[in-house]
Amino acid sequence: MEKVEFVVVGAGLSGLATALVLAEAGAEVLVVERGDYPGSKNVTGGRLYLGPVRSYLPDLWEEAPLERRVVKERLTMMAPGSSITAELSSERFRNPPFPSYTLLHATFDRWFADQASARGAMVISGYKVDDVLQKDGKVIGIVSSGDEIHADAVVAADGALSFMAEKTGLLKPRAAKNYAVAAKEIIELPPHVIEDRFGVENDEGTAQLFFGSLTAGIHGGGFLYTNQASLSLGLVLAIQDLMDKSGPNLSNEESAFSPHNLLEAFKDRSEIRPLIADGHSVEYSAHIIPEGGFRALPRLFTDGMLIVGDAAGFTLNLGVTVRGMDLALVSGVLAARALLRARERADFSSASLSYYETLIKESFIWEDLKTFQHMPDFLSNPRIYERYPSMACDLLEQILWVGEGTKEKLSTTILRTVRQNLFRISVLRDLFTMRKI
Ligand SMILES: Cc1cc2nc3c(=O)[nH]c(=O)nc-3n(C[C@H](O)[C@H](O)[C@H](O)COP(=O)(O)OP(=O)(O)OC[C@H]3O[C@@H](n4cnc5c(N)ncnc54)[C@H](O)[C@@H]3O)c2cc1C
Repeated sequence: MEKVEFVVVGAGLSGLATALVLAEAGAEVLVVERGDYPGSKNVTGGRLYLGPVRSYLPDLWEEAPLERRVVKERLTMMAPGSSITAELSSERFRNPPFPSYTLLHATFDRWFADQASARGAMVISGYKVDDVLQKDGKVIGIVSSGDEIHADAVVAADGALSFMAEKTGLLKPRAAKNYAVAAKEIIELPPHVIEDRFGVENDEGTAQLFFGSLTAGIHGGGFLYTNQASLSLGLVLAIQDLMDKSGPNLSNEESAFSPHNLLEAFKDRSEIRPLIADGHSVEYSAHIIPEGGFRALPRLFTDGMLIVGDAAGFTLNLGVTVRGMDLALVSGVLAARALLRARERADFSSASLSYYETLIKESFIWEDLKTFQHMPDFLSNPRIYERYPSMACDLLEQILWVGEGTKEKLSTTILRTVRQNLFRISVLRDLFTMRKI
């Protein structure tokens, strides 16, 4: 039996941020990661918003292996045979401090783990944590590969399907409606091809989000991010909707609704084909995302344990922005601060560790999750994915189309579309719901 001051389970951004801050303060911390190396098992879209993070982790970013700084935003609304893309290119995004960057877990997390190690943390990979040790209701350590490791406190940074949060009773039984599944590919292309196709220069990049018919009526969307020499392309789909449409076997390859088949259909769209043409697909991954938001948050602490990042459900999907990595990093920093205070007092009880919740409540994490607590309900409306994109695309097509015959007045076209599509109770209800988001 061995004992360390702190054990962190999971070497994703949340676990490594916790370890880095603990080690920097001179604490003894062991990070246990089941993947062969940090970043080998976890998946992200991969755009990190640095604005919320910089003040918590100020000195890291100059040297960080980030891919491209995002200077161009695109939002695409898709109907079955057409789409509308809005593009924002802003000088504000081109000036430091740059608001967001793309990254790849496989390179970024390894580097981040090295930063934590350089400050004294011990990061061991290739070890799965199989159990949480508890005594008299207090978490006292972990079990990995048959070995017991005892600790003053344990941090559950084991991601979206955290077994530790479940095992310790911090998380109520999981509900499918609070989770999404994502399928993602990394497609290699030479940097100059990416820059030409997306109209950016050098280290500049584009972030493009998609919603509408690409998810076949399922609550979700797509993403396309430019890395230095690759694209990250993927789809996110609400699990409850998927189960309603195709049954509980989500990996059924026959189903038109399988994430894999929907991703293939997405790649085959005329909007995507030229962007990925001649690209070489080098990685395919699937992952769960917690999307329940504020109302699905678990209890964040118990005697001897805290939960951070995805394990705590800290993600924020507004449809137009997808966040999780910034919340993971900052929750890790706040967990470390709470643990250091507990260390000073030699008190790792639930009452002492509740300081973590206080810190979370004082941070943007709590405020933003609370502000957007109605977002999951709003985004679960199928009209956002079917009726509205089709209506908007059809209307623009009619306005822009010049055919053989005469052309009717634009006001007639617009008023007819509005009458046919928008004078409905359901639309009024949707507008009414919008005031909550
Ligand atoms: C497809 C997709 C797209 C996304 N897009 C974005 C985006 O563009 N921007 C953004 O900010 N966020 C995005 N997110 C969310 C973001 O990636 C996560 O919120 C964030 O990475 C969570 O970090 P984490 O450290 O909490 O968890 P993870 O990164 O999941 O890390 C958990 C770690 O724990 C390890 N682990 C799990 N169980 C055990 C065990 N029993 N023993 C040992 N180790 C274990 C795992 O191997 C993993 O390394 C996206 C997520 C997905 C899936």
